[in-house]
Amino acid sequence: MSNPCLYLVVPCYNESEVLDTTAKVLGFEKLRNLVANGKVSAASRILFINDGSKDDTWMKICFWHSQHPETFSGLSLSRNRGHQNALLAGLLYAKDKADIVISLDADLQDDVDAIDEMIDKYVNEECDIVYGVRSSRKKDSFFKRFTAESFYKIMSWSGVEIVFNHADYRLMSKRALEELEKFSEVNLFLRGLVPLLGFKTGIVYYERGVRQAGQSKYPFKKMLSFAVDGITSFSVTPLRFITKLGLTIFCLSILMLIYFCFRWYSGETVLGWASLICSVWAIGGLILFCLGIIGEYIGKIYKESKHRPRFIIDQIIDRNA
Ligand code: UDP
Ligand code: MG
Repeated sequence: MSNPCLYLVVPCYNESEVLDTTAKVLGFEKLRNLVANGKVSAASRILFINDGSKDDTWMKICFWHSQHPETFSGLSLSRNRGHQNALLAGLLYAKDKADIVISLDADLQDDVDAIDEMIDKYVNEECDIVYGVRSSRKKDSFFKRFTAESFYKIMSWSGVEIVFNHADYRLMSKRALEELEKFSEVNLFLRGLVPLLGFKTGIVYYERGVRQAGQSKYPFKKMLSFAVDGITSFSVTPLRFITKLGLTIFCLSILMLIYFCFRWYSGETVLGWASLICSVWAIGGLILFCLGIIGEYIGKIYKESKHRPRFIIDQIIDRNA
């Protein structure tokens, strides 16, 4: 195997501030070197996916394509569909053009030097999927580190097979992507889906840096809903947890009843509305919480049953098209 055609898929949402730097680093420093060293073919490209940006991200992508069509290509979605859908749009488009596709963020947080190692694993070890895994989280704030690591732990507790500290920086072969396309779910969580594909996989460790410019598009609220999505799309453990919780509380209430009967029999009256009101609130809260979890799953079924398209492509600019 030699000289595979590589597409670097980069989802962009309001990334105008960082896009020029990204284009220079990925295009001129990385891709052109890879082509010059004979690691990838000359048909290789950087594919920017514009995820319905409100700033001039798409204009910049068009500019880079017009200046260097042999390096930059672009794909614009009809509206903002979120990171996972934008990424999928890019992956599915690129799979028809390339032998291997590597996905990475627009903000250059993923160390681009890991790309060489990923390609080596594909060429020399015939890995169909190579995961980029963060070697440490030292550069993250305490809060981000804590929430992210808790997320991976809850996922593995729920029985979901995901790669610890791996986000969406990964290499996938054409054949792996063709299989990925067969998963038609609307609730996309690629980190959980890709391990389900199987095939020979490899891992490349890298140090994740800080965002080069612009703001994070994942504020806490979005991160939380992403985590809930990930868990409820792949595991029914939370539903089983509810059953166990309900059963435990029921058993406890029976025990309490026996205890109070015993005290009543021995002549002691049970006073105190405080304990009563507390338990009413606690049980009420638990019931609502559990209903919420069940609602999450029903919501998922509702969305899946509609079979709506996951993204709509508005424009494609690619010399290979
Ligand atoms: N992104 C996207 N659509 C969205 C939100 C984010 O395509 O609706 C892209 C964004 O442009 C970036 C990547 O997803 O390339 C990851 O986002 P970000 O770097 O803001 O996330 P963080 O690294 O802070 O978790
Ligand atoms: Mg980022």
